[in-house]
Amino acid sequence: MNVGIVGGGQLARMLALAGYPLGLRFQMLDPAADACAGQIAPLIQGDYDDEARLRQLAEWAEVVTFDFENVPAAAARALERQTVTFNPPAGALAAAQDRLYEKALFWELGIPTPPFATVDSLEELRAAVGRIHLPAVLKTRRLGYDGKGQRVLRASEDIEPAWRALGGVPLLLEGFVPFQREVSVLAARGRDGATVFYPLVENHHRDGILRLSRAPLAAPELESEGWDHARRLLERLNYVGLLAIEFFVRDDRLIANEMAPRVHNSGHWTIEGATTSQFENHLRAILGLPLGSTTALGHSVMLNCIGAMPERAAVLAVPGAHYHAYGKAPLPGRKVGHLTLRAEHPDALQTGLDRLLPLVGLEASEFD
Ligand code: AMP
Repeated sequence: MNVGIVGGGQLARMLALAGYPLGLRFQMLDPAADACAGQIAPLIQGDYDDEARLRQLAEWAEVVTFDFENVPAAAARALERQTVTFNPPAGALAAAQDRLYEKALFWELGIPTPPFATVDSLEELRAAVGRIHLPAVLKTRRLGYDGKGQRVLRASEDIEPAWRALGGVPLLLEGFVPFQREVSVLAARGRDGATVFYPLVENHHRDGILRLSRAPLAAPELESEGWDHARRLLERLNYVGLLAIEFFVRDDRLIANEMAPRVHNSGHWTIEGATTSQFENHLRAILGLPLGSTTALGHSVMLNCIGAMPERAAVLAVPGAHYHAYGKAPLPGRKVGHLTLRAEHPDALQTGLDRLLPLVGLEASEFD
């Protein structure tokens, strides 16, 4: 079967790597000639709203999916008009592309969020700060990722500079959540509505970028709360594929931050750390195949490699460590790969982690 992917980054690349053993073929559409998935599958170079290129992809593929959530709405609609199956559904993409719609949907489903207000002028920002109070986070409603397009407001002097930095596009002001930890829920829903949930993942960010994920997090009550939230979202969106939801944990309750209608960085550990990876389950879901077990195989931790890859031999010298280079040129701030460490026992995991952390520029004391 032929699978088309809109976007040719590392997520498309890992989807293809998971799909080849299933006998699938892939083509990706990406504006960049050097998109890293192009190293392992044919790449159609073209803009995401290039109707001719989209048609070319749709004519070749039986199923089309995407590897990032900012696929233009017009492209999603154009693909849905073709004879291919396009999943996850365009409605889920639309909800995830705008932080206001996303939060409104969470509220409608009874999923708690930080307090929020739309902001389209400096006056509205001042009024919103009056209602939400400081500290707060000002975010662009669209096209934000990895902490880009957001500013934390701690004092009233921060209001004008934040407006100058971000104003001019629709914004959202959110209450700052003094969270105890951040977690994510990954779930996959098949074409027949069958749904599977992965164990709860704990995430650590630095400068808005995910640096470390650990799973499973032994917190059964939080996990079942997260799975309930995910189930309601999947059903409401008539979702097919893998969905990730990121939450803050405050006072032992979940507060939703955002969702991603695609495979997610906080699920990379599942390649070695779960019976079926998130990538394989996404493909199984969109192809109408039976979903695979999400059971964790012991304990896993995933470390992102930001800017450059660590030395291969140093990583592989750590028992249980796996090396994933995405084939991307090194660039400050760029996700170029990840490492996964898997162990049967948490103690062994910690010993290996202490050796890997310095290799990716992190201090052991940050992640006790
Ligand atoms: P986002 O791009 O919305 O996922 O934000 C990136 C990271 O910034 C989150 O994972 C948090 O670590 C932090 N952050 C975002 N929004 C808030 C908030 N309302 N309160 C506290 N921290 C936040």
